[in-house]
Amino acid sequence: MQSTVWFSDLSAPPGRSLIEKTGQLLRAAGLAGKIGPGALTAVKLHFGERGNVSFVRPVFVRKIVEEIAAAGGKPFLTDTNTLYVGGRSNSVDHIRTAVANGFAFAVVDAPLLIADGIRGESSISVPVEGNIYSEVAIGTEIVNADALVAVTHFKGHELSGFGGTIKNLGMGCAARSGKLAQHSTVSPTVDPAACTGCGTCVAHCPSGAIEVISEKALINPGACIGCADCIVVCPEHTVIIDWNEAAPMVQKKMVEHAVGALRGKSGKSLFISFVMQISPYCDCYGNNDRPIAPDVGIFASGDPVALDQACADAVIRSAGRDPFRETHPEIDWTIQLSYAEELGLGTRNYLLETL
Ligand code: SF4
Ligand code: SF4
Repeated sequence: MQSTVWFSDLSAPPGRSLIEKTGQLLRAAGLAGKIGPGALTAVKLHFGERGNVSFVRPVFVRKIVEEIAAAGGKPFLTDTNTLYVGGRSNSVDHIRTAVANGFAFAVVDAPLLIADGIRGESSISVPVEGNIYSEVAIGTEIVNADALVAVTHFKGHELSGFGGTIKNLGMGCAARSGKLAQHSTVSPTVDPAACTGCGTCVAHCPSGAIEVISEKALINPGACIGCADCIVVCPEHTVIIDWNEAAPMVQKKMVEHAVGALRGKSGKSLFISFVMQISPYCDCYGNNDRPIAPDVGIFASGDPVALDQACADAVIRSAGRDPFRETHPEIDWTIQLSYAEELGLGTRNYLLETL
């Protein structure tokens, strides 16, 4: 089996803007055939944390909304609430953050609807035939939507090496309980020899799991929800995870949730990835460090696995090295792709068609 991935580079001569090329990509990838008349269509994206500027720009999203509407659908923009304490941990803050980042109705021409209720409590248990779960908790309005278009900013990620479409579906569509289930594998400890007791991790920990005692941070594993914030914020890089165990399990759990997010949407889903401003970490942070690879372009496909594989290959080709492995050396990001293929989410074998 081979899936087609459509690609547009970032050349934009007069009369052929990147906005126009985004529409062409969606049409080439068969958007019209995925959206039935009047289909309530979830446009699943990440609105970005306040202070982050590398999420997919609202003007691209507006074009996607226009294309869905032209195909007969009724699009709404959606995401689920976060585990960590920030600007998107409940629906009120989440919508305010989205609007502050430019996703106002007047800009994107579609309503915003957080899929898992005001506090992430609204989910539907979706059956999956995985090796870990028999059912997964997906945000209610994602399950209820007639069709789904996942819009992804392809970048590095502290838990999965890169954050692509599988991550946008698996972690991004899970309700709070589904996110907790995925993160529970992450159980960090602190190397006391390198810890300076600065307290940065304490200030960021959403569950109050860290204490500084005698100038050394100590994590209470019973209170830790595995959000991984302390790993990223520690200036001494002294928070440690047993990645040999955690990296494969997090990715496999994520894949099983992605399978759940797409259940009932066979032939009714499409995926588009913006491979630009390739930051080292997730857009959940209120900053985005300098890119780890040059901008590549925009990709679209009906197959999320082929799409992630094509995006990763293109980044490595363009950088001349693997910037994801370089940035997160402990994480073998291929696990998510091979496990997704094993569960029938798609294929890593793709044909790249350039527009
Ligand atoms: S200890 Fe670290 S991983 Fe655990 S909840 Fe706190 S910040 Fe997140
Ligand atoms: S942020 Fe790092 S150095 Fe500072 S207290 Fe926490 S573990 Fe120690």
